[in-house]
Amino acid sequence: MLGAIHSIETFGSVDGPGVRYVIFMQGCNMRCQFCHNADTWKQMTPDQDAASVLKKALRYRTYWKDTGGITVSGGEPLLQIDFLIELFTLAKKAGVHTTLDTCGQPFTQAEPGFSKIRRLMEVTDLVLLDIKQIDNEKHKLLTGHPNTNILAFARYLDSIHKPVWIRHVTIPGINDSDQELERLDQFLQERKNIQRVDVLPYHTMGMYKWEALGLEYPLKDVPTPTVEQVNRVKTLLHVEDYPLT
Ligand code: SF4
Repeated sequence: MLGAIHSIETFGSVDGPGVRYVIFMQGCNMRCQFCHNADTWKQMTPDQDAASVLKKALRYRTYWKDTGGITVSGGEPLLQIDFLIELFTLAKKAGVHTTLDTCGQPFTQAEPGFSKIRRLMEVTDLVLLDIKQIDNEKHKLLTGHPNTNILAFARYLDSIHKPVWIRHVTIPGINDSDQELERLDQFLQERKNIQRVDVLPYHTMGMYKWEALGLEYPLKDVPTPTVEQVNRVKTLLHVEDYPLT
């Protein structure tokens, strides 16, 4: 099974527990206005086989110790789910901790996609799930897609007791009103499988990638949040209530 891979980070420290070998997959259907990885959007011909990818990752195994492992990120890795199933199956056979970092948009409960999701979850130890905006209409404006699949994926992960870390990029004036955060907080509090909630400050470090693609960056007038603004979001989302925060 071949995968289209954008890049590799050999010593990741923010994409799951411990030291991670992070595989960034190519391709994403979303068009988030704040995307800092716009260079991963384009679909490309898959050219790397799962066994070879794992073999390269295992060279770094001594650094992973008890907590680290591999993380697949993107772009949107679920767009290459057959590759993920093979990669993570091989990884689990080798005793490696597996983390999926996803926006959840490709999730479906229709077949054959749902069976593939179930197979993938059997070999996935942890899911990092982005929830960018709880309001569906605003989510469409922000990302080009509804959040229906994403919230359905969160509910499904709860139903199978899959450990999840939620990630929320906070963007001043875009997704940080009291009402939006209270709704998001309520949705998160209803889930029993969430181990951690990370509030990430919006930044413009990926703006140059939009320019390189000949695209206008839609949020160029939006400031990055202050420490106080980020702390307010953390408070409203009760991030300290989760076991790993
Ligand atoms: S889901 Fe991630 S990679 Fe895709 S557009 Fe949004 S931020 Fe970018």
